[in-house]
Formats: sequence, C-alpha cells, structure tokens
Amino acid sequence: MTSDPQAQREVSAQYHPEADAEEHSIRPLSLDDFTGQKKARDNLRVFIEAARTRKEPLDHVLLFGPPGLGKTTLAQIISKELGVGFRATSGPVISKAGDLAAILTNLQPHDVLFIDEIHRLNAAVEEILYPAMEDRQLDLIIGEGPAARSVRIDLPPFTLVAATTRSGLITRPLRERFGIPLRLEFYQPKELARIVARGASIMGMDITPEGAFEIARRSRGTPRISGRLTRRVRDFALVDGVATVDAKTADAALLKMEVDSEGLDSMDRRYMGCIADSYGGGPVGVETIAAALSEQRDVLEEVVEPYLLQCGLIIRTPRGRMISDAGYRHLGLNPPPDAKTRQLALMIDSASEEDVG
Ligand code: ADP
Repeated sequence: MTSDPQAQREVSAQYHPEADAEEHSIRPLSLDDFTGQKKARDNLRVFIEAARTRKEPLDHVLLFGPPGLGKTTLAQIISKELGVGFRATSGPVISKAGDLAAILTNLQPHDVLFIDEIHRLNAAVEEILYPAMEDRQLDLIIGEGPAARSVRIDLPPFTLVAATTRSGLITRPLRERFGIPLRLEFYQPKELARIVARGASIMGMDITPEGAFEIARRSRGTPRISGRLTRRVRDFALVDGVATVDAKTADAALLKMEVDSEGLDSMDRRYMGCIADSYGGGPVGVETIAAALSEQRDVLEEVVEPYLLQCGLIIRTPRGRMISDAGYRHLGLNPPPDAKTRQLALMIDSASEEDVG
C-alpha cells in the first residue's frame, strides 16, 4: 500500500505497486532462468520431472522465506514447467470457506493453485483445506440450524503451492500436509549480480559486470530490491546521458538514493543509531526501540531486523537487541572497549532463557 512508509523505502523487500509494476517484465519464466536457490531448484526439478513422467499432479509445495526472494515467481514456474494452469489468490483475500470452495471447484485437473501469505488464512477456511489437500474432497455445510446438511464434493487433482514469510505462524496440521517444503534463502551477491545483469539486458540497459556487482551488493540479498535499484539506476543514467553503467555511475546513483555501501538506508541507520546513541549499544527491547522511532514492532521485526542480523550489524540477545562491533563501525563509531565482553556475558548468562525480545 502506498500509505505504508515501509513500502516507500527503496530497500524494502515488500512489493510496492508503483515502484515494482515493471518487475513482471523481468520475472524468470523457467527453472533454467531462475538464478540461485540451488537446493530448492534441484529438488523441484526432480519432483516436477517425476510428476510429469507419472502423469500425476505434483505434491503440494510450501515455499517459505522473507519477501522478495522469488516465491511467487517459483510458483508460476512450477505451473509452466508442469504445463498446467495457474490460479493465484492469497490468505487474507479468502475470508469465507465458500470463497475457497468456489476456487477449488473451478480448478482444472492438475492445475496449480497458489495461495500467498497462507499464514493469514482464517481457521474456518483452513479446516476445509485439509480434506481438499489430502483426499481431494470438499466437505461443505449447506443451510443453517436444524436444516443444515453436509455435502461432499469431489475435487479435480490439483497442486497447492503456498507461500509464507512467517513459517512459525503456520499450524502444524497444515504444514504436515505439504509433501515438498522448500526454504528460500537470501541470495549471494554473485547470484544477484547475474539477476541484475539479466534484468538490465531485458530493459535494454548497458551495464558492466562491476556495475552489476555494485547494485547487487546493496540489494540486501533480495532480487526484488535488486530489480528496483536497477530500474532507479537506469533512470539516473538516462537523465545524466550515461551510455554504459559502471561501478562509479551505479555507486553515485545509489548514494543519491541514500542507499549506502551495505544496502542500508536511513531507516536502518536510524534504528542502529537509536540503539547506539540512546541505549548505550543495548541490550534494549524491540518494543522500546519501536516506541523511540515511532515505528511498529512488527515492521522492525519483519522488515528492518532480518537483514541487519544477517549482516551481523546487530545481535539479538534474550535481553534485547545490541549493536555489534561491525554495527558501530558501519555507523562510523568506535565500539566501546567493553562492548564485546558485555555481549558475550549476556549471551552466556541467558543462553537458556526465553527470548523476551
Ligand atoms: P516473493 O513472492 O517471494 O515476495 P517474487 O517471486 O514476487 O517474490 O519476486 C520478486 C521479483 O524478484 C520478481 O518479480 C522477479 O523479477 C525477481 N526474482 C525473484 N527471484 C528471482 C530469481 N531467482 N532470478 C531472477 N529474478 C528473480
């Protein structure tokens, strides 16, 4: 949503309808074009081949991982590689059991049904998904009160491909019904550089390998961000009359957008600065940081922290968040002499305690 300040960040991994409208044009359409995620790709290739040979639907697939890593893209590729139809919906959109029933009964045999954000399905809808996934049957209650009766409808064989950014929120009975669970990981800079180069060539932009790397390094391990930054760099190059984007042009354009050498933007720096300056480097609870920055806790936990943790710029201890030595250095500060000892002591002290974040 455009009113969401997170969505306005150049380095937010969340889909933004305006900034990302063009991303469909560079979406890979086959497993061969899909860069990175080798483990998930290799597994899928085998399962897809087996399903095609047996002329059976592919087992249900659960894709989990942070936003922008290619879950929707992979779901579409699965249907293409299987040569079957693709229907897409999402957890929050299916509000009643009847909505899901309508979708399921309209599927063609072997179709892929993609449900994004499956963790946001409500319990009543989830209940009818179980027999649909397991026995291809739909148990519906028709009518109300004493006149209510249940009807059973046979469904065509289909493959559910579900995606979630919060695998911890998926109930165990639902999770257990997926034969193929696949975790997507953040991408390596080299993989992202290939994705940038591919996107640039589709967009007709000339870029050197070093230019592609410059964008890749700042994309927070996320193809959605690398795509967005590539489009922005293209705009700068166009306006400045640059024919070929090299590392220097890319760097200059990204700095104008306030995206620094690690892909951090002002929001990340505000977050780290808050822990370093206002709370002596931490530990400080995420609620406190959220209040100090006037941000929602969820946003910090889902959008800001994962990448900072992954880069080792912050540390999550059971007593709250701390800035690491690398984090201090990134802010241009010297870590206090006792920082490391304090971090270690805290982690040892509370090794067996619950994370109170
Ligand atoms: P998610 O569903 O995980 O939020 P998407 O599948 O919508 O992410 O991916 C976001 C964009 O990133 C896609 O439109 C596509 O252009 C690009 N993308 C994602 N994964 C890859 C990949 N492995 N190779 C090339 N481009 C990718």
